[in-house]
Amino acid sequence: MSEFFKKTVAAVLAFALALFSAQTASAYTLHMTVADLRLSSAVVGTSACPVPAHRLTAAGSFSVQWSTSLGASPLTVLTQDQTAAGRLNEIEKTIQQSLGVWTGVSGSVLLPGTLAPLARVSSSTACAADGLNSICFNQSDAGFTPGILAFTRVITADHLGAQLTNGPAATEIGEILDADVYFNPGDPNTTFATPQALAANPAAYDLESLLTHELGHAIGFSHSAVWRAMMAPYAPAPGTFTGQRPTTLAPDAPLAEDDRTGLRALYPDPSDTVHTGSISGRILPANALSLPAVPAGVSGIFGAHVVALDAASGNVVAGVLGGWSCSGTGPAQFDGSYRIERLAVGAS
Ligand SMILES: [Zn+2]
Repeated sequence: MSEFFKKTVAAVLAFALALFSAQTASAYTLHMTVADLRLSSAVVGTSACPVPAHRLTAAGSFSVQWSTSLGASPLTVLTQDQTAAGRLNEIEKTIQQSLGVWTGVSGSVLLPGTLAPLARVSSSTACAADGLNSICFNQSDAGFTPGILAFTRVITADHLGAQLTNGPAATEIGEILDADVYFNPGDPNTTFATPQALAANPAAYDLESLLTHELGHAIGFSHSAVWRAMMAPYAPAPGTFTGQRPTTLAPDAPLAEDDRTGLRALYPDPSDTVHTGSISGRILPANALSLPAVPAGVSGIFGAHVVALDAASGNVVAGVLGGWSCSGTGPAQFDGSYRIERLAVGAS
Protein backbone atom coordinates (compact mmCIF):
# COMPACT_ATOMS: atom_id res chain seq x y z
CA MET A 1 0.00 0.00 0.00
CA SER A 2 1.33 3.42 -0.86
CA GLU A 3 0.01 6.54 0.63
CA PHE A 4 0.02 10.15 -0.36
CA PHE A 5 0.63 12.41 2.60
CA LYS A 6 -0.32 15.93 3.42
CA LYS A 7 2.49 18.43 3.34
CA THR A 8 2.46 18.85 7.11
CA VAL A 9 3.38 15.20 7.49
CA ALA A 10 5.96 15.64 4.76
CA ALA A 11 7.74 18.30 6.78
CA VAL A 12 7.97 16.02 9.80
CA LEU A 13 9.26 13.09 7.74
CA ALA A 14 11.80 15.22 5.92
CA PHE A 15 13.13 16.42 9.24
CA ALA A 16 13.36 12.86 10.53
CA LEU A 17 15.27 11.81 7.43
CA ALA A 18 17.69 14.68 7.89
CA LEU A 19 18.47 13.41 11.35
CA PHE A 20 19.26 9.88 10.30
CA SER A 21 20.85 10.25 6.90
CA ALA A 22 23.17 12.62 5.14
CA GLN A 23 21.58 11.64 1.82
CA THR A 24 19.06 14.08 0.48
CA ALA A 25 18.40 12.80 -3.02
CA SER A 26 17.03 9.45 -4.03
CA ALA A 27 14.85 8.67 -6.97
CA TYR A 28 12.31 6.38 -8.52
CA THR A 29 11.73 2.96 -7.09
CA LEU A 30 9.67 0.16 -8.52
CA HIS A 31 7.32 -2.16 -6.71
CA MET A 32 8.93 -5.62 -6.73
CA THR A 33 7.49 -9.12 -6.51
CA VAL A 34 9.23 -12.41 -5.72
CA ALA A 35 7.77 -15.65 -7.09
CA ASP A 36 6.35 -17.98 -4.44
CA LEU A 37 8.89 -20.77 -4.80
CA ARG A 38 6.90 -23.02 -2.49
CA LEU A 39 4.69 -23.67 -5.51
CA SER A 40 5.41 -25.91 -8.49
CA SER A 41 8.20 -24.74 -10.78
CA ALA A 42 5.67 -25.03 -13.60
CA VAL A 43 3.95 -21.88 -12.28
CA VAL A 44 6.80 -20.00 -10.62
CA GLY A 45 9.90 -20.99 -12.55
CA THR A 46 13.08 -21.52 -10.57
CA SER A 47 14.34 -18.01 -9.88
CA ALA A 48 14.10 -16.19 -6.56
CA CYS A 49 15.10 -12.89 -8.19
CA PRO A 50 12.68 -10.00 -7.57
CA VAL A 51 10.63 -8.99 -10.61
CA PRO A 52 9.18 -5.49 -11.12
CA ALA A 53 5.42 -5.31 -10.76
CA HIS A 54 4.02 -4.30 -14.13
CA ARG A 55 1.10 -4.17 -16.50
CA LEU A 56 0.72 -6.08 -19.70
CA THR A 57 0.88 -3.60 -22.57
CA ALA A 58 -1.28 -5.20 -25.28
CA ALA A 59 -3.90 -2.93 -26.80
CA GLY A 60 -6.88 -2.45 -24.50
CA SER A 61 -5.38 -4.59 -21.74
CA PHE A 62 -5.45 -1.94 -19.01
CA SER A 63 -9.07 -1.35 -17.93
CA VAL A 64 -10.00 1.25 -15.36
CA GLN A 65 -13.39 2.03 -13.87
CA TRP A 66 -14.31 4.87 -11.54
CA SER A 67 -17.08 5.16 -9.02
CA THR A 68 -19.46 8.05 -9.62
CA SER A 69 -20.41 7.96 -5.93
CA LEU A 70 -19.11 11.19 -4.42
CA GLY A 71 -19.17 12.25 -0.79
CA ALA A 72 -21.72 15.04 -0.28
CA SER A 73 -20.92 16.63 3.08
CA PRO A 74 -18.62 18.18 2.20
CA LEU A 75 -18.58 17.48 -1.50
CA THR A 76 -15.41 15.39 -1.90
CA VAL A 77 -14.57 16.56 -5.41
CA LEU A 78 -15.13 20.19 -6.39
CA THR A 79 -15.83 21.00 -10.02
CA GLN A 80 -16.38 24.12 -12.06
CA ASP A 81 -19.49 22.68 -13.66
CA GLN A 82 -22.10 22.33 -10.93
CA THR A 83 -24.65 20.27 -12.86
CA ALA A 84 -24.88 16.57 -12.02
CA ALA A 85 -23.85 15.42 -15.49
CA GLY A 86 -21.28 18.16 -15.95
CA ARG A 87 -19.65 17.34 -12.65
CA LEU A 88 -19.12 13.72 -13.64
CA ASN A 89 -17.81 14.67 -17.08
CA GLU A 90 -15.32 17.07 -15.56
CA ILE A 91 -14.03 14.46 -13.10
CA GLU A 92 -13.85 11.88 -15.87
CA LYS A 93 -11.78 14.21 -18.03
CA THR A 94 -9.38 14.67 -15.12
CA ILE A 95 -9.01 10.90 -14.79
CA GLN A 96 -8.38 10.54 -18.52
CA GLN A 97 -5.73 13.24 -18.48
CA SER A 98 -4.04 11.61 -15.48
CA LEU A 99 -3.95 8.25 -17.25
CA GLY A 100 -2.71 9.97 -20.39
CA VAL A 101 0.28 11.34 -18.51
CA TRP A 102 1.67 7.81 -18.11
CA THR A 103 0.86 6.69 -21.65
CA GLY A 104 2.35 9.83 -23.17
CA VAL A 105 6.04 9.20 -22.45
CA SER A 106 8.36 8.60 -25.41
CA GLY A 107 10.51 5.48 -25.18
CA SER A 108 7.87 3.46 -23.34
CA VAL A 109 5.50 0.81 -24.69
CA LEU A 110 2.78 1.81 -22.27
CA LEU A 111 0.79 3.58 -24.99
CA PRO A 112 -2.60 5.31 -25.18
CA GLY A 113 -3.86 2.18 -26.96
CA THR A 114 -2.93 0.09 -23.91
CA LEU A 115 -5.89 1.69 -22.14
CA ALA A 116 -9.39 0.33 -22.54
CA PRO A 117 -12.13 2.98 -22.56
CA LEU A 118 -12.63 4.44 -19.09
CA ALA A 119 -15.75 2.96 -17.49
CA ARG A 120 -18.13 4.22 -14.82
CA VAL A 121 -19.61 2.26 -11.95
CA SER A 122 -22.23 3.54 -9.50
CA SER A 123 -21.28 1.51 -6.44
CA SER A 124 -19.53 3.52 -3.75
CA THR A 125 -17.55 0.42 -2.75
CA ALA A 126 -16.15 -0.54 -6.13
CA CYS A 127 -12.63 -0.74 -4.72
CA ALA A 128 -12.14 -4.39 -3.77
CA ALA A 129 -9.66 -7.18 -4.47
CA ASP A 130 -11.72 -8.31 -7.44
CA GLY A 131 -9.47 -8.02 -10.47
CA LEU A 132 -11.03 -4.70 -11.52
CA ASN A 133 -8.91 -1.54 -11.41
CA SER A 134 -11.10 1.01 -9.70
CA ILE A 135 -10.98 4.62 -8.53
CA CYS A 136 -13.15 5.42 -5.50
CA PHE A 137 -13.98 8.80 -4.01
CA ASN A 138 -16.51 7.69 -1.42
CA GLN A 139 -15.20 4.46 0.07
CA SER A 140 -13.89 4.44 3.63
CA ASP A 141 -10.95 2.24 4.50
CA ALA A 142 -8.78 1.50 7.52
CA GLY A 143 -5.87 2.74 5.41
CA PHE A 144 -7.01 6.33 5.99
CA THR A 145 -4.95 7.12 9.04
CA PRO A 146 -4.48 10.84 9.84
CA GLY A 147 -2.82 12.77 7.04
CA ILE A 148 -3.54 10.27 4.27
CA LEU A 149 -5.21 11.94 1.30
CA ALA A 150 -5.26 8.99 -1.07
CA PHE A 151 -3.62 5.62 -1.50
CA THR A 152 -3.48 2.76 -3.97
CA ARG A 153 -3.76 -0.91 -3.10
CA VAL A 154 -1.89 -3.09 -5.61
CA ILE A 155 -2.06 -6.87 -5.94
CA THR A 156 0.54 -8.64 -8.06
CA ALA A 157 0.92 -12.21 -9.29
CA ASP A 158 3.54 -14.33 -7.52
CA HIS A 159 2.78 -17.29 -9.78
CA LEU A 160 1.43 -17.95 -13.25
CA GLY A 161 -2.30 -18.46 -13.26
CA ALA A 162 -2.89 -16.24 -10.21
CA GLN A 163 -6.34 -14.79 -10.60
CA LEU A 164 -8.87 -12.59 -8.84
CA THR A 165 -12.63 -12.94 -9.20
CA ASN A 166 -13.20 -10.75 -12.25
CA GLY A 167 -9.74 -10.58 -13.74
CA PRO A 168 -7.75 -12.69 -16.16
CA ALA A 169 -5.29 -15.36 -15.02
CA ALA A 170 -1.74 -14.04 -14.77
CA THR A 171 0.57 -14.90 -17.66
CA GLU A 172 3.66 -13.29 -16.12
CA ILE A 173 5.21 -13.15 -12.65
CA GLY A 174 4.81 -9.63 -11.28
CA GLU A 175 1.75 -8.92 -13.41
CA ILE A 176 -0.52 -6.46 -11.63
CA LEU A 177 -3.85 -8.19 -11.07
CA ASP A 178 -5.66 -5.33 -9.40
CA ALA A 179 -4.95 -1.76 -8.37
CA ASP A 180 -7.53 0.37 -6.60
CA VAL A 181 -7.17 4.08 -5.93
CA TYR A 182 -8.89 5.37 -2.80
CA PHE A 183 -9.45 9.07 -2.10
CA ASN A 184 -10.14 10.02 1.49
CA PRO A 185 -13.90 10.60 1.79
CA GLY A 186 -14.16 10.97 5.54
CA ASP A 187 -12.16 14.08 6.41
CA PRO A 188 -14.47 17.13 6.63
CA ASN A 189 -11.48 19.42 6.08
CA THR A 190 -10.16 17.67 2.96
CA THR A 191 -11.56 18.32 -0.50
CA PHE A 192 -10.18 17.77 -3.98
CA ALA A 193 -10.65 20.04 -6.99
CA THR A 194 -10.43 19.46 -10.72
CA PRO A 195 -7.94 21.65 -12.61
CA GLN A 196 -10.84 23.86 -13.73
CA ALA A 197 -11.98 24.39 -10.14
CA LEU A 198 -8.67 24.64 -8.32
CA ALA A 199 -8.12 28.38 -8.61
CA ALA A 200 -11.54 29.11 -7.13
CA ASN A 201 -10.95 26.60 -4.32
CA PRO A 202 -7.42 27.27 -3.04
CA ALA A 203 -8.01 25.18 0.09
CA ALA A 204 -8.62 22.06 -2.00
CA TYR A 205 -6.01 19.57 -3.17
CA ASP A 206 -5.39 19.21 -6.89
CA LEU A 207 -7.25 16.11 -8.01
CA GLU A 208 -5.17 15.71 -11.15
CA SER A 209 -1.82 15.69 -9.34
CA LEU A 210 -3.02 13.17 -6.77
CA LEU A 211 -4.63 10.95 -9.40
CA THR A 212 -1.52 10.97 -11.56
CA HIS A 213 0.60 9.98 -8.57
CA GLU A 214 -1.75 7.19 -7.52
CA LEU A 215 -2.00 5.86 -11.07
CA GLY A 216 1.79 5.71 -11.04
CA HIS A 217 1.41 3.16 -8.26
CA ALA A 218 -1.22 1.36 -10.33
CA ILE A 219 1.31 0.72 -13.10
CA GLY A 220 4.17 -0.43 -10.87
CA PHE A 221 5.89 2.54 -9.25
CA SER A 222 6.78 2.85 -5.63
CA HIS A 223 7.95 6.21 -4.31
CA SER A 224 10.69 8.54 -5.44
CA ALA A 225 12.58 10.86 -3.13
CA VAL A 226 13.24 13.41 -5.86
CA TRP A 227 11.24 16.31 -4.46
CA ARG A 228 9.88 17.49 -7.80
CA ALA A 229 9.03 13.98 -9.09
CA MET A 230 5.42 12.97 -9.52
CA MET A 231 6.17 9.86 -7.47
CA ALA A 232 7.49 11.78 -4.47
CA PRO A 233 5.20 10.72 -1.63
CA TYR A 234 3.98 14.19 -0.70
CA ALA A 235 1.02 15.99 -2.18
CA PRO A 236 1.44 19.49 -3.53
CA ALA A 237 0.11 22.13 -1.12
CA PRO A 238 -3.61 22.96 -1.38
CA GLY A 239 -4.34 25.16 -4.37
CA THR A 240 -1.17 24.09 -6.20
CA PHE A 241 -0.27 21.25 -8.56
CA THR A 242 2.75 19.10 -9.45
CA GLY A 243 4.85 20.06 -12.47
CA GLN A 244 3.16 21.46 -15.58
CA ARG A 245 -0.38 20.68 -16.71
CA PRO A 246 -0.58 18.10 -19.51
CA THR A 247 -1.27 19.39 -23.01
CA THR A 248 -2.13 17.67 -26.26
CA LEU A 249 1.44 18.16 -27.47
CA ALA A 250 3.00 17.26 -24.12
CA PRO A 251 0.67 14.81 -22.37
CA ASP A 252 3.46 13.81 -19.98
CA ALA A 253 4.27 17.39 -18.97
CA PRO A 254 3.50 16.88 -15.25
CA LEU A 255 6.24 14.27 -14.91
CA ALA A 256 9.81 14.88 -13.84
CA GLU A 257 12.62 13.25 -15.81
CA ASP A 258 13.03 10.81 -12.92
CA ASP A 259 9.46 9.56 -13.47
CA ARG A 260 10.03 9.22 -17.21
CA THR A 261 13.26 7.30 -16.75
CA GLY A 262 11.57 4.92 -14.33
CA LEU A 263 8.76 4.34 -16.82
CA ARG A 264 11.24 3.67 -19.63
CA ALA A 265 13.07 1.18 -17.44
CA LEU A 266 9.81 -0.58 -16.56
CA TYR A 267 8.24 -0.51 -20.04
CA PRO A 268 11.20 -0.19 -22.42
CA ASP A 269 10.49 0.47 -26.06
CA PRO A 270 12.94 -1.71 -28.05
CA SER A 271 12.87 0.81 -30.90
CA ASP A 272 13.94 3.69 -28.66
CA THR A 273 17.33 4.88 -29.92
CA VAL A 274 17.60 7.89 -27.60
CA HIS A 275 17.48 6.45 -24.09
CA THR A 276 20.00 3.67 -24.46
CA GLY A 277 22.55 4.69 -21.87
CA SER A 278 23.08 3.13 -18.48
CA ILE A 279 25.27 3.69 -15.47
CA SER A 280 26.10 0.79 -13.19
CA GLY A 281 28.54 -0.24 -10.52
CA ARG A 282 28.83 -1.19 -6.89
CA ILE A 283 28.92 0.87 -3.72
CA LEU A 284 31.57 -0.54 -1.39
CA PRO A 285 32.60 0.72 2.02
CA ALA A 286 36.06 2.18 2.47
CA ASN A 287 36.32 0.02 5.55
CA ALA A 288 35.25 -3.57 4.83
CA LEU A 289 34.86 -4.18 8.56
CA SER A 290 31.84 -1.88 8.50
CA LEU A 291 29.85 -4.55 6.67
CA PRO A 292 27.62 -6.73 8.86
CA ALA A 293 28.78 -10.26 9.67
CA VAL A 294 25.15 -11.36 9.95
CA PRO A 295 23.47 -12.17 7.66
CA ALA A 296 26.35 -13.74 5.81
CA GLY A 297 27.23 -12.69 2.29
CA VAL A 298 26.70 -8.93 2.52
CA SER A 299 29.54 -7.53 0.43
CA GLY A 300 28.40 -3.99 -0.36
CA ILE A 301 26.43 -1.06 1.00
CA PHE A 302 22.67 -1.47 0.94
CA GLY A 303 20.28 1.39 0.27
CA ALA A 304 22.76 3.90 -1.11
CA HIS A 305 21.16 6.69 -3.13
CA VAL A 306 22.69 6.82 -6.60
CA VAL A 307 21.56 9.77 -8.70
CA ALA A 308 22.34 10.63 -12.31
CA LEU A 309 22.59 14.34 -13.07
CA ASP A 310 22.34 16.15 -16.37
CA ALA A 311 25.86 17.45 -16.91
CA ALA A 312 24.61 20.65 -18.54
CA SER A 313 21.77 21.66 -16.23
CA GLY A 314 22.63 19.85 -13.03
CA ASN A 315 19.07 18.54 -12.86
CA VAL A 316 18.38 15.06 -11.54
CA VAL A 317 17.72 12.80 -14.52
CA ALA A 318 17.12 9.64 -12.55
CA GLY A 319 18.44 7.58 -9.75
CA VAL A 320 17.94 4.39 -7.85
CA LEU A 321 18.39 2.85 -4.46
CA GLY A 322 21.41 0.61 -4.86
CA GLY A 323 22.33 -2.39 -2.82
CA TRP A 324 21.61 -5.67 -4.49
CA SER A 325 21.84 -7.66 -7.67
CA CYS A 326 20.25 -10.89 -8.74
CA SER A 327 20.88 -13.29 -11.59
CA GLY A 328 20.00 -16.82 -12.56
CA THR A 329 18.08 -18.59 -9.85
CA GLY A 330 18.94 -15.98 -7.26
CA PRO A 331 18.45 -15.16 -4.48
CA ALA A 332 19.34 -11.47 -4.44
CA GLN A 333 22.89 -10.72 -3.37
CA PHE A 334 23.50 -7.74 -1.13
CA ASP A 335 26.62 -6.70 -2.99
CA GLY A 336 26.09 -2.93 -3.26
CA SER A 337 25.14 -3.06 -6.94
CA TYR A 338 23.21 -0.32 -8.67
CA ARG A 339 22.10 0.22 -12.23
CA ILE A 340 20.35 3.22 -13.77
CA GLU A 341 18.99 2.38 -17.19
CA ARG A 342 17.33 4.13 -20.10
CA LEU A 343 19.29 7.34 -19.88
CA ALA A 344 19.58 9.67 -22.83
CA VAL A 345 23.01 9.10 -24.32
CA GLY A 346 25.47 11.90 -23.72
CA ALA A 347 23.22 13.89 -21.42
CA SER A 348 24.29 12.59 -18.06
ZN1 LIG B 1 2.22 7.30 -3.16
